[in-house]
Amino acid sequence: MGKSTGFMEFQRELPSDRSSLERVRDWQELHEHFSTQKLQQQGGRCMDCGVPFCHTGTLISGMASGCPVNNLIPEWNDLVYRGLWKEALLRLHKTNNFPEFTGRVCPAPCEGSCVLGVIDPPVTIKNIERAIVDKGFEEGWVTAESPAQRTGKKVAVVGSGPSGLACAAQLNQAGHLVTVYERADRAGGLLMYGIPNMKLDKTIVQRRIDLLIQEGINFITNTTVGVDYPVTKLHEDFDAIVLCCGATKPRDLPIEGRDLQGIHFAMEFLHANTKSLLDSDLGNNACISAADKHVIVIGGGDTGTDCVGTSMRHQCRSLTQFELLPKPPDERQPNNPWPEWPKIYRVDYGQQEAAARFGSDPRTYLVMTEKFVGDENGHVTKLHTVNVEWVASENGGFSPQKIPGSEKIWPADLVLLAMGFLGPENTLIEKLAIEQDSRSNVKADEGIFKTNVDGIFAAGDMRRGQSLVVWAINEGRAAARECDRYLMGATQLP
Ligand SMILES: Cc1cc2nc3c(=O)[nH]c(=O)nc-3n(C[C@H](O)[C@H](O)[C@H](O)COP(=O)(O)OP(=O)(O)OC[C@H]3O[C@@H](n4cnc5c(N)ncnc54)[C@H](O)[C@@H]3O)c2cc1C
Ligand code: SF4
Repeated sequence: MGKSTGFMEFQRELPSDRSSLERVRDWQELHEHFSTQKLQQQGGRCMDCGVPFCHTGTLISGMASGCPVNNLIPEWNDLVYRGLWKEALLRLHKTNNFPEFTGRVCPAPCEGSCVLGVIDPPVTIKNIERAIVDKGFEEGWVTAESPAQRTGKKVAVVGSGPSGLACAAQLNQAGHLVTVYERADRAGGLLMYGIPNMKLDKTIVQRRIDLLIQEGINFITNTTVGVDYPVTKLHEDFDAIVLCCGATKPRDLPIEGRDLQGIHFAMEFLHANTKSLLDSDLGNNACISAADKHVIVIGGGDTGTDCVGTSMRHQCRSLTQFELLPKPPDERQPNNPWPEWPKIYRVDYGQQEAAARFGSDPRTYLVMTEKFVGDENGHVTKLHTVNVEWVASENGGFSPQKIPGSEKIWPADLVLLAMGFLGPENTLIEKLAIEQDSRSNVKADEGIFKTNVDGIFAAGDMRRGQSLVVWAINEGRAAARECDRYLMGATQLP
């Protein structure tokens, strides 16, 4: 596929990002766009490897290797190389309902397993994916497509994140009447209120939701199912129900001083910021402001990075990010070979911005927070830490051990807890009498998606735990297929 000698002729190239110091002054997206010629060259690097791994989406050591929605990557790389953009778009939409989201926010496990990556930098798959769908929208090729026939069956999808949206899109295409319930005031789940605007512009999320509405899907926002809308009515009103409520229970840090003001879960901070941005361009003062504050972000993942990027745009006074784990290596280690997801040190957009303004990467590794200290008004002012080392424990794992004498005190006016999520919230699960697994996720086997209650399915983070947008799309599509089979006895959904 692509140009048979392309991988020898062209180097991997990505469009540059807007400069860190410029982009922290606004909330616009980070990335610049490439010319069509450059994109075609990059598509031409796909080398007809014979046995591609980029589209496999298998789990190795618990991490995705290859694309979880099985995007037909070598095919659309070739079509882009040959300038057949509309055909590339058709091929892309066969496997992925929302490439404009994944082309922006996916960590691209496909690139970690690209065969070219064994000897050279991999093909720029994610950037090509975004370019195909962006061109599709620019050219007016992406339009609402309503189903030719309706089945008369009614399905409720609870939750409008990527799994709920993908599930609703597929069920609607199969002819069912789909209603999506969302407790927030806008649909989109973490696409709307988790991932910040500079990473995924909210007009892009809303554009797709508007298309789904035109295709016949009914969205009901500001409605918490199980509270505003009783579960008994769900059973009465619908032939099947798909739960896509996410894994929104945050991990807390129950140490001394936790109840002081100025300590927030990351999602409180991120949700309030995007809502205020969309409602009033931050004019209504309804966000939690990091302006002129010493900000400490506890947790080094995607959520932590988004807190860093948001605090930078508020013009914080200083920024520090704590990570309990050691700094990852710069290159793949022998125990992390291709085609596994490379567990290497990366500098994401938030850290780039903090380094440009404050002179260094804000992350401090192997740090444990011991207590928060406040002033006479009950507001946090300081945070006490100790360094740790990971020591082999008797049960075969590793545990963090404090290093005596490494205690440190940090100034802190705003502390953001971004230490991951513990699974789905329980209220609706309990009201519907749904079984949970040992990790408190909804129990529903992969590939089948049925819960213990007849006619109720589950997909996305609610079933697999906090994961990735691309996995949520995969699960939403697959749950729709199984729901369609349940309703009709057979299914033609992929
Ligand atoms: C801050 C942050 C940044 C992230 N960044 C990335 C990234 O860059 N790339 C990536 O691939 N992944 C990222 N992720 C992970 C990704 O966003 C999730 O894996 C994905 O959104 C899960 O989709 P979902 O549809 O299962 O759930 P969600 O997106 O969580 O959506 C669930 C929805 O259900 C609604 N809901 C819950 N209960 C009810 C109820 N009872 N009634 C009505 N509605 C209800 C919620 O309000 C929510 O809108 C990030 C996660 C976070 C928290
Ligand atoms: S969805 Fe993610 S893994 Fe799949 S092709 Fe796009 S960037 Fe790669």
